[in-house]
Amino acid sequence: MPDDMVEAHIRGVRNAIAAGWSVLARGGSALDAVEEAVVIMEDDETFDAGRGSFLNREGKVQLDALIMDGATLRAGGVGCVERLRNPVRAARKILSESPHVYFVAEGAECFAAEHGIELCRNEDLVIPREIEHLRKFQEEASRHDTVKDGNHLFAPEMTHDTVGAVALDRNGNIAASTSTGGTLNKAPGRLGDSSLIGCGCYADNQSAAVSTTGWGEPIMKLVLAKWTADRIAAGNLPGWAAREAMNYLEQRLNGHGGIIVLNGQGQFGIAYNTPRMAWAIRTISIEQAGVERE
Ligand code: ASP
Repeated sequence: MPDDMVEAHIRGVRNAIAAGWSVLARGGSALDAVEEAVVIMEDDETFDAGRGSFLNREGKVQLDALIMDGATLRAGGVGCVERLRNPVRAARKILSESPHVYFVAEGAECFAAEHGIELCRNEDLVIPREIEHLRKFQEEASRHDTVKDGNHLFAPEMTHDTVGAVALDRNGNIAASTSTGGTLNKAPGRLGDSSLIGCGCYADNQSAAVSTTGWGEPIMKLVLAKWTADRIAAGNLPGWAAREAMNYLEQRLNGHGGIIVLNGQGQFGIAYNTPRMAWAIRTISIEQAGVERE
């Protein structure tokens, strides 16, 4: 995260917490809370989700999102959608109204439209900052072979700006959601970890609610969200499991990223092996936000 974006990130995650908390405070479900928190961040151009996302190599926004209910294990995901302002809303409809778990591309957009979600044009999701970001990246790419052959995606300095939320409600249910525009200059049709169950997102009342961000290919190879939830089911605390997940990601595949984790007792973990990740937390007794690594 560049220095000049820090304030906007902090503001964005605080706004998301406020939206999620207002659902929980009036007795709403964890599922509704994570959906509302993620919508706020999709609508905020600061993040790589919804409008303002990174562009693929053809200059289009292509979005992935997942939402999962820890009480029932129901889940809804969309991949490679180009005409939805809030992919998490479509994911939620899939969770609630479809026997399926995933829809991709035009099929997902059709499902959303049939369920009352308005479609937009892809251009409506593209902002000038990201046109310039892609132009600079591609100009640089044309000068370096490593960038041309795709190895640049391995570079730890690549920024990642996916959004995610985890919540616990008064009935003891947990939920998680993750939404992203994926990686800058990705190939059209590339699906990242974010919308894959157990990779970028997972929720099970018997273990934990987890959302991850970072370099998607290593995260999905390690099925990292489920890996983390399994450690919690085995009796470990979320704080420890979150840190271990980042160690595992780095040691096993030289991956980088961040993770937020919450169990049904309200114990949580936040960890990242990048220099910064914006996070915010609210409980009855704590309200905090930050970006810097200790
Ligand atoms: N994990 C996302 C992806 O690879 C990117 C990110 O977290 O920013 O699609």
